Amino acid sequence: MAAAPSSSQVRVGVRIRPITCKESSEGGKQVVEANSFDRTVSLSKRKFTYDSVFDSNVSNEDLYSSVAPPLLDAFLNGYNATILAYGQTGSGKTYTMGSEAGSSNDTLGLIPRFLDAMFASLFDQKNKSVQSVLKSPSKSDSADANPQSPSLVGFKVSASFLEVYGEDIFDLLDDNDDRESLKLREKEDGEVFVVGLRKTPVVNAAAAMEVLNTGTMNRTTAATLMNHTSSRSHAVFTIHLQQTTRTAEGVDITTSSNMTFVDLAGSERMKKTGAEGERMKEGIKINEGLLALGNVINALADETRLNSGEKVYVPYRASKLTRLLQDAFGGNSQTHFLACVSPSDTNASETISTL
Ligand code: ADP
Ligand code: MG
Repeated sequence: MAAAPSSSQVRVGVRIRPITCKESSEGGKQVVEANSFDRTVSLSKRKFTYDSVFDSNVSNEDLYSSVAPPLLDAFLNGYNATILAYGQTGSGKTYTMGSEAGSSNDTLGLIPRFLDAMFASLFDQKNKSVQSVLKSPSKSDSADANPQSPSLVGFKVSASFLEVYGEDIFDLLDDNDDRESLKLREKEDGEVFVVGLRKTPVVNAAAAMEVLNTGTMNRTTAATLMNHTSSRSHAVFTIHLQQTTRTAEGVDITTSSNMTFVDLAGSERMKKTGAEGERMKEGIKINEGLLALGNVINALADETRLNSGEKVYVPYRASKLTRLLQDAFGGNSQTHFLACVSPSDTNASETISTL
């Protein structure tokens, strides 16, 4: 079992995708350079440093092995963990998260890989504790068989999927056509929750993927009905885990943790898309949410870097998105913020703004 993290940890990584046919055919040249040894990304004489850097040769499988294990570990140990994908539309956010169906086995993104590993580990631990009980003639012996670590006697997993569009929150697992935006509330202990959000129980990774796919389909349909594209909203997919473990003394303890995957709205500025009127207002709201998120991530990353246990002021209240993610980021949580960029000079100004 991993040592418990002492406070929230935020890591920031950059992923550069391969140049696309469209970019090459428009004369795009590869101008974004990654150096994974000193963890820098350079673009036209500017250089930026990150916790992790993934160049265009890094597969989804490699990315998973580098990013996910500490988060999975924390999550299975009862802490919240979050992965966010940030970047302009077309930069590779959805490819990275794997939040859309249709990928082949080698290109599976972070979500399906995480679900597989998570259920494998849970079933494995549960089997081990069942076997140790079966082998031992008495209860006290079964405790002896596993003297240190508490054994997993049961677990429940459910999934929720919502989108944040401007300042509205919609349940993507509600397939009613007339969607109503949901409210955020705070419990007495300060925990933030979405009133009326569905949590669908899932018994294995395939069932969880089905929930993800249903929600993704609802997201696309709703976007079409509202005459925008789904790249204008933030998609938040959460796995809720409740575990009951039995201590060596025979005491049952229940812990809950959330693993959250966020496929953020495109970060592109409005000029390029030639937005006007409503579209422009929508763009401003989306950018406000992303700006607020950026400020929160910066504050948390400072706290991680300072590593002094000193609390930094984190401006969660500035937007719905950041209020919603407050619990995911708080406490002893683990967060990986992945910025996705195009390598092409034709996207250089957006890439600089992302970096
Ligand atoms: P976004 O979600 O940021 O709008 P997508 O994930 O849809 O971007 O990626 C845009 C296109 O680029 C898709 O066709 C996707 O398959 C491709 N792509 C993105 N990242 C990679 C990568 N690392 N390797 C190969 N193809 C990629
Ligand atoms: Mg996308």
